[in-house]
Amino acid sequence: MASPGAARGGIRLEAITKTFGETRALDGITLAARPGSFLVLLGPSGCGKSTLLRVVAGLEAPGSGRLLLDGRDVTSLPPAARGISMVFQSYALFPHLSVAENIVFGLRARGVERGERERRLAQTAELLGLGRLLARRPAQLSGGQQQRVALARAVVAEAPICLMDEPLSNLDAKLRAEMRREIRALQQRLGITMVYVTHDQAEAMSMADQVVLMRDGHVEQDATPAELYARPASVFAASFIGTPPMSLLRLVPGRDGAEVAGAPGMAVAPAAAAGALLGIRPEEVALSDADGLPARLIAAEFLGAETVLACAVGDGEEVLQARIPGNHALAAGTPLRLRLPPAAHLFDAGTGRRLPDPA
Ligand code: ATP
Repeated sequence: MASPGAARGGIRLEAITKTFGETRALDGITLAARPGSFLVLLGPSGCGKSTLLRVVAGLEAPGSGRLLLDGRDVTSLPPAARGISMVFQSYALFPHLSVAENIVFGLRARGVERGERERRLAQTAELLGLGRLLARRPAQLSGGQQQRVALARAVVAEAPICLMDEPLSNLDAKLRAEMRREIRALQQRLGITMVYVTHDQAEAMSMADQVVLMRDGHVEQDATPAELYARPASVFAASFIGTPPMSLLRLVPGRDGAEVAGAPGMAVAPAAAAGALLGIRPEEVALSDADGLPARLIAAEFLGAETVLACAVGDGEEVLQARIPGNHALAAGTPLRLRLPPAAHLFDAGTGRRLPDPA
């Protein structure tokens, strides 16, 4: 049991599995979230993020494994007994109720007395800037305002843990960016533990204290955003993070070290790296004049502050992306020379796992 006065909201999952018929949606998930931290479950569609969130919420029973909240085994407890609030992708607001009634609906259902309901409603409305909208119906609100009501409904529960499943996917890009900041600020201000599901790596990187990257029902990497970016544990993690993501080049033995297949005489990594995949972040590549890896431009994409160049290198089968500051209106086919960073990311070409850093 948690000691009295200890910070609340600690989560521990131990070897959680879940199968639906033939599908193994969760394949032994073990992870822990600190009280008051922001944990993001990140991964492609179908990797098991929502199922895992539903297991934590108690909406789905795991096949095996244990869930502990603040040290207490809650695996078989119903949702209402877990001290958890939840925000869904579809805001699930009641159309016939006012904003105020929507916000306190859960409190009313749990028999929280009127004075307390009103105190919490006023506080939550103030926190989320909903004061002037309380009498409206959901249909009279913008998408962003509806999202805020859904958040308010979770906040008003004053639960130490809040779960969110892709809460921003119905909003346009600008509003998404605003709401990201707002949710993060709210989580920090309230000191609650947040478990947040998204397939958007930018959302994960900008909001999380801890990112759990999932793939096919297992944890591919569990790390801080900074570590995930700096030291991806696998080709999958390397390819999932960054805009555009890391380029991966096959290395073959060469005269002075390992080189890109089809680019003889240009060592790009120590000899021991031959046979591996070299990972290069596009922002670490620069254009160079005479020396540098020969390349041919496939396409240039101007993004305003910078241009992303997709380049064919070596035997032409390898594609290296470069993110270069400024506008580079270059025609497809233009020959280029690229300066690469020192070999920082090497991966086993068979298993896809990260190899020890070259000396
Ligand atoms: P998305 O981002 O698309 O929502 P996800 O990562 O949240 O994906 P889940 O919804 O957790 O993935 O699904 C994981 C796997 O389990 C998928 O293969 C999915 O088809 C399967 N699955 C989920 N729920 C059920 C269900 N109720 N019945 C059968 N299969 C299910």
